[in-house]
Amino acid sequence: MEKGEALDMFCYQCSQTARETGCTVVGVCGKQPTVARLQDNLLFAIKGITAYLYHARELGYTDDEVDAFLEKGFFSTLTNVNFDPQEFVKLALEAGQMNIKTMQLLKKAHIDNYGEPVPTEVPVGSVKGPGILVTGHSLQNLEELLKQTEGKGINIYTHSEMLPAHGYPGLKKYKHLVGQLGGPWFDQRATFSKYPVAILGTSNCVLLPKEEYKERMFTSGVAQLPGVKHIEDNDFTPVIEKARELPELEDEPKDTVLTTGFGASTVLSLAPKIKELVEAGKIKRFILVGGCDSPKPQAKYYREFVEKLPQDVVVLTLACGKYRFNDLDLGNIEGVPRLIDLGQCNDAIVAVDIALALTELFGVELNELPLTIVLSWMEQKAAAILWSLLALNMKGMYIGPILPGWANDEIINILVENYDLRPIGDPEEDIKTIMGE
Ligand code: SF4
Ligand code: SF4
Repeated sequence: MEKGEALDMFCYQCSQTARETGCTVVGVCGKQPTVARLQDNLLFAIKGITAYLYHARELGYTDDEVDAFLEKGFFSTLTNVNFDPQEFVKLALEAGQMNIKTMQLLKKAHIDNYGEPVPTEVPVGSVKGPGILVTGHSLQNLEELLKQTEGKGINIYTHSEMLPAHGYPGLKKYKHLVGQLGGPWFDQRATFSKYPVAILGTSNCVLLPKEEYKERMFTSGVAQLPGVKHIEDNDFTPVIEKARELPELEDEPKDTVLTTGFGASTVLSLAPKIKELVEAGKIKRFILVGGCDSPKPQAKYYREFVEKLPQDVVVLTLACGKYRFNDLDLGNIEGVPRLIDLGQCNDAIVAVDIALALTELFGVELNELPLTIVLSWMEQKAAAILWSLLALNMKGMYIGPILPGWANDEIINILVENYDLRPIGDPEEDIKTIMGE
């Protein structure tokens, strides 16, 4: 694997910094470029963990061990504390383990509060009446909004990573949660302009707004945008009032219907059938194609990859990377759907649970399963998930749309040598390799 030209490192966190602007070749303190980059890597993984931890805490769930790790991880990157590259690889793997623990915590919080998701069809398109469009990841904020709008004649729509909310019994029971508008996070300027409704951004992946919808947009939780009103303490009255002032939406044809909400129990209820189909050679492989969607042109790969997969492959997916292909009708293999949407990015833990259950079902090790992971990454939550999968010793994963910019050749080579990490390439060639052709 090769990457383009880059600074060897960049660190400007202490007063010794070179030329008083930044150490870019080697640290004045002696820090080597790979250590600087591994420190950044650790910080990115930590940022990812904190996003999941934050949503768990919104629902009252915390974990002392994860909190203690975060302290240790942050402290390790302070000036003149740790110069050992191997230790930073170990810390990254520990971050991966802590992220697994955090995703389990958040999954428990979601299931305890809203029940385990069930497969649910979600129409894409507007329904006549006033509306509020909710984007981001906070199911807790969505629930509060649903409670506060119940019986008020306002339709609630999901956008991007809110789509999986429709699968939770405790959220789908609200009849005014009517559907989905738009696709992944980066279509929001087009989607928010198209539908003149009130908009609520509940977490990361909110874009700086266009002037034309700024005054009907609101944020909650950690999300904040200049010139956009921030909702405090889950009091969504200003959002509701704005929705009522705005013109009603009209009914749109619902040409696209997305199916989401495959929880671990639903998938594992199919375990005997899956075993039978695998042993009969009717299912050759499971491929998890998922992660964060990215506007990079290289991300077109994921649709082509899924479209060209043989009919005896089952695709598991999660997070907003699924919007590259979740409108495709892949059919089923004797009742087992060929496209299984497990949910949000934190539902990577559901994929892990399913994979571990499959190892027991087939009596094999994780890397002996007929399972390949094809990851798409955008931001630091994906970095945390990558290290979680590496902490599970998952080998032979594909990663795109680009290699992480903070990893130099030395780091990439370590990942290739130890984990057989591969960059995405040509979809057809990758499929041939994966299928052993
Ligand atoms: S910590 Fe080291 S590498 Fe970073 S700015 Fe200070 S001297 Fe430079
Ligand atoms: S999956 Fe990643 S890129 Fe997509 S909305 Fe969530 S955090 Fe953002």
